Amino acid sequence: MVPSFIHTALPARVVFGAGALARLADELAQLGITRALVFTTPQRRRGEAVVAALGAKAAGLFTEATMHTPVEVTERALAAVTEHSADGLVAIGGGSTIGLAKAVALRTDLPQVAIPTTYAGSEMTPILGETRDRRKTTQRSLKVLPETVIYDPDLTLTLPAGTSVTSGMNAIAHAAEALYARDRSPLLAMMAKEGIATLAQSLPRIVADGRDAAARADALYGAWLCGTCLATAGMALHHKLCHVLGGMLNLPHAETHTIVLPHAIAYNSAAAPDAMAAIAAALHAAEAPRGLYDLAGRLGAPRALRDLGMKEADIDAAADAAVRDPYWNPRPVEREPVRDLIARAWAGDPPLASV
Ligand code: NAD
Repeated sequence: MVPSFIHTALPARVVFGAGALARLADELAQLGITRALVFTTPQRRRGEAVVAALGAKAAGLFTEATMHTPVEVTERALAAVTEHSADGLVAIGGGSTIGLAKAVALRTDLPQVAIPTTYAGSEMTPILGETRDRRKTTQRSLKVLPETVIYDPDLTLTLPAGTSVTSGMNAIAHAAEALYARDRSPLLAMMAKEGIATLAQSLPRIVADGRDAAARADALYGAWLCGTCLATAGMALHHKLCHVLGGMLNLPHAETHTIVLPHAIAYNSAAAPDAMAAIAAALHAAEAPRGLYDLAGRLGAPRALRDLGMKEADIDAAADAAVRDPYWNPRPVEREPVRDLIARAWAGDPPLASV
């Protein structure tokens, strides 16, 4: 029987396919954008190519996007919008670049086209994380949701294998937590299962050959599905832990997600049996936590927080922070088992299923 549910669909136009970047000028025209400011990280080559291709439709290039969207960078980007009289925004890059355009959109309400080149999923969400005085805060607003997203797998051919894997595991984390979210729906569950399955089968092909165009298309499709899950489902203990570890200890985003995921899923396994069955089936594994841990191992991903530079002495402080203002979670968030979870993730031990 179908359970009761509420499903919120968000507006977004998605253009997907190899070579889809060539549609950018048409997509800008559809949004009424005549002078787009293009955003990148300091790896500006792709942005330069976009500006050259757009000609007079490009207002300029801003190349200062960086992790965690510091407000100082946003303020400089806002000055560039004014200086170049831009009437629209184009972000080409990963979650850091897309985050910067979202921060500018929040303050200007300018329309955005996001062109993701990783699997992080920010392009589909109305969520913005920003850093001020080294403190990261997150908010939701439809103003930050990109109007149009262009997914062109060709742009991901250069993403190094290691980043592809951790970025893909970051995407899987969105779908995994959507499967036990309080506000899950049958449609989200379908997208989550398909997203996990598609990434689990495409990431090994990417590790074998990063220029495998079909594998790249599959992974980006999976990333879209997982990003859509993140956009509307409430995230739980796993995302809370990653925000704590990233914010407190400045651990890298995608790697932290990759390492913590099997352990957070193990913590919730007894409280969310249907979600566990769905994740295990998508992974073709006997059980979800071990399936995720083994997948990370097969892909050569990091599996220990200590390998990211976290000190053993930080485990207690991280556990304290993780249980403070917890996100809703299917199992109560308690200090001692959460400490054990972090300790196992720190050491790189296999996940311990809850009973
Ligand atoms: P990133 O955007 O920082 O990119 C990582 C590095 O990879 C950068 O140096 C970038 O220039 C490079 N890169 C990107 N695409 C490339 C490609 N195709 N080829 C070669 N190099 C490439 O990393 P990310 O993991 O995509 O994003 C992480 C950030 O996004 C974090 O700040 C996180 O909080 C945020 N995020 C936000 C949301 C949201 O909904 N608001 C969702 C997911 C992630």
